[in-house]
Amino acid sequence: MEVVSQSVKFDKKLLDKDALKVVSTIRKAGFEVYLVGGCVRDLLLGLEPKDFDIATNAKPEKVHKLFKRSRLIGRRFRLVHVMFSARKFIEVATFRSGKVQTAKSGVIVRDNCYGDIEDDVVRRDFNINALYYDVEQQKVIDYVGGLKDISTKEIHIIGDPKLRFEQDPVRMIRAVRFQSKLRFVLSSEIESAIYEQSSLLSNISPARLYEECIKLFHNKYSFEVYESLEKFGLLKHLFKQTHKNDFIKKALLNTSSRISKNKPVTPVFLFAVFLWQAQNERFAIIKKRQKSFYLAMNQASEEVIINQIKQVSLPKWLTARIKDIWMMQSRLEKMHPKKTRETLKNPRFRMAYDFLLLRSQSINPELKETADFWTKIQVTHKDSQGKVAHSDNHKKKQ
Ligand code: ATP
Ligand code: MG
Repeated sequence: MEVVSQSVKFDKKLLDKDALKVVSTIRKAGFEVYLVGGCVRDLLLGLEPKDFDIATNAKPEKVHKLFKRSRLIGRRFRLVHVMFSARKFIEVATFRSGKVQTAKSGVIVRDNCYGDIEDDVVRRDFNINALYYDVEQQKVIDYVGGLKDISTKEIHIIGDPKLRFEQDPVRMIRAVRFQSKLRFVLSSEIESAIYEQSSLLSNISPARLYEECIKLFHNKYSFEVYESLEKFGLLKHLFKQTHKNDFIKKALLNTSSRISKNKPVTPVFLFAVFLWQAQNERFAIIKKRQKSFYLAMNQASEEVIINQIKQVSLPKWLTARIKDIWMMQSRLEKMHPKKTRETLKNPRFRMAYDFLLLRSQSINPELKETADFWTKIQVTHKDSQGKVAHSDNHKKKQ
């Protein structure tokens, strides 16, 4: 393979201090070591990296021994997490080869064969994600033309797109996410391979897709991502019960705007919005034979959620909150004067109110007066109480 190395002096302030410590310790122990992947890509683009990953020729056990506060993780392939606090760790991966053992469906079942840097390059997904930064030499090492793609703002896959998407269909949604996040163009090869093979996404475990979905929609371009997923036929393999409407659009734009303003967001809200229409339709059917409003609501919610977690799993705490938001809609719609105070005190009030407000601004304009009522009453209540009813609505639950 042809290698290009280009001198790039990143401002030291932009590099994570802990990642630099890890690099230096591994290098001093006599190994080859680089910053790799998303962090190099983002630094080259002037974006702030989300995390700093490290690649080395040292075996995981060796790396583990070099750092007192580290642990070996992973079943399919072993990685080392070097801990710096309860929440912060730096991930160190040993160079691995792209040799893979696949199941009949083409999905990778084992890929833990160690290799050298060239092997490690070709197992990565896109050219722009396969750049290595040698901290000591201050050089970017490029085997696949990633630097060129960074300058032309293009996303090309490493190897044959059909094969690489078969091996790991999650790469299709990663492609869509990077296209929006970086404002890059997908190669036509990638585009046609996704159109052709979008249904492979249904082979991925719902648990893995939960993490991916959070990344898809908790960013500045979530509506654009939603539209791309729909265009490529990927959305129905994540949310088959979800069909675009103005409520969904507003909720996605709202989430993006909160993120741009550094306000916290929760996945509860978006998932509740995505599934609301399906819940309503189920409720209308069940209500015909179930007299109790509460039981009909509960059953409809349960069924819609059970359908959803076949595709993308949602943790229990999250589905419980989704149901709370849905259940509170009717209470807010009724505006029962005697129950106002109690409703305002409900810890889920704030999110249920945000939900109602967005409904009134999109699919349910007839609720505008109701939404106004709850907007005003919060102010009155705040004045009489000195503060608004406390809520934990927008805190991100980890
Ligand atoms: P971001 O952190 O912005 O989501 P990233 O590129 O850092 O983007 P990570 O999921 O952190 O994404 O992965 C780190 C690196 O690991 C990637 O840059 C890529 O080289 C490699 N990688 C991740 N997922 C895959 C995959 N499914 N197939 C091949 N390589 C992958
Ligand atoms: Mg990353």
